[in-house]
Amino acid sequence: MAKVIIIGAGGVGTVVAHKCAQNPEVFTEIVLASRTRSKCEAIARKIGGGRIKTDSVDADSVEQLVELFNRHRPDIVINVALPYQDLTIMDACLECGVNYLDTANYEPRDEAHFEYSWQWAYKEKFEKAGLTAILGCGFDPGVSGVFTAYAAKHHFSEMEYLDIVDCNAGDHGKAFATNFNPEINIREITQNGRYYQDGEWVTTGPLEIHKPLTYPNIGPRESYLLYHEELESLVKNYPSIKRARFWMTFGQEYLTHLRVIQNIGMARIDEIDYNGMKIVPLQFLKAVLPNPQDLGENYQGETSIGCRIEGLDKDKNHLTYYIYNNCSHEAAYRETGMQAVSYTTGVPAMIGAMMFLTGKWVKPGVHNVEEFDPDPFMEQLNIQGLPWHEVKNIDLEV
Ligand code: NDP
Repeated sequence: MAKVIIIGAGGVGTVVAHKCAQNPEVFTEIVLASRTRSKCEAIARKIGGGRIKTDSVDADSVEQLVELFNRHRPDIVINVALPYQDLTIMDACLECGVNYLDTANYEPRDEAHFEYSWQWAYKEKFEKAGLTAILGCGFDPGVSGVFTAYAAKHHFSEMEYLDIVDCNAGDHGKAFATNFNPEINIREITQNGRYYQDGEWVTTGPLEIHKPLTYPNIGPRESYLLYHEELESLVKNYPSIKRARFWMTFGQEYLTHLRVIQNIGMARIDEIDYNGMKIVPLQFLKAVLPNPQDLGENYQGETSIGCRIEGLDKDKNHLTYYIYNNCSHEAAYRETGMQAVSYTTGVPAMIGAMMFLTGKWVKPGVHNVEEFDPDPFMEQLNIQGLPWHEVKNIDLEV
């Protein structure tokens, strides 16, 4: 008997709700709560079978979250609202004795700044309360960390170079749209790039470093170096890593739109005065862009996300290793009504909660995914719709 509350009824929340409902032996009771209850009700209706209960909550308010948790008394909360709500939800978890999982690190609203320090600061409080918090359990962060932990456990004695490579080779037929929350997505991409080398962080201009990388079943795609949050925990947890980088593909059309958006000031996250009203340009832009949840229907092609790792194998011989998953937008849509970017985030979030509820990932404190045993999670990826593949001794291109 285990009860889960999912907070957030966006693209990712929709997938998490579907996948929890598909696993009734683990998730015996499921509550979906978000700011707008009607969105939760629509998802619950679509899933059917009376599997999902709904509720509403403003997750910026610890008080409302505490009331929600006291009403339902869940074992774990899956936070797939926005990164702004991470700390309020963690506070409410501590107050009510609820375990916690999310897919994105906390970000203050007024600063596009990605680091784990705010959430790692809760470590002792969660330890003392005997509660487990699992951070960053989507695909990247998430599966990228589990893939790295799996490589370390089974293939490497020392990992020296880590490159996380994220390709979306899908086409949604729109001139410009983001694949997940536009505000969070544009904040992420327009910040400076950053990578880790020989114990230090090297900063680059936004999207300054790029090169073509070849993705399985897709071919070569221009890939851009970005800062991504899992780099921070992975270099801490695997000190043998000399260099860690993150690459993401973008099409020329997307980059041209992004450049215009920035040049005309629509990517600004500070408040401006408009006809006596305070608005944040990026939030206004979100309101007029296509809703990522509506992209699925005509989305074709696939995503390919993985880790390319170089180092010494268990016998201290040189090893290059590539582990990846390819996910089809069409197949994700047929199963859940959402495209592959929401699917690849929502499935691992459900698996993370499953790992906790089945006793495999129970560790009081605040932890990133690579701190747990990767094996049972990897097994579930194959079962739950995200099969993975590994290749050894190839040219990693990075
Ligand atoms: P959406 O914008 O589609 O959905 C967010 C949901 O959260 C909406 O239902 C929204 O409600 C709800 N919400 C926002 N603010 C509040 C609040 N104060 N209280 C309650 N509910 C709130 O986003 P996505 O589904 O695309 O993304 C969800 C999360 O997943 C994000 O944190 C994102 O960063 C993360 N992500 C992680 C990835 C990974 O691989 N690790 C990849 C992609 C996304 P309403 O509808 O009323 O606005």
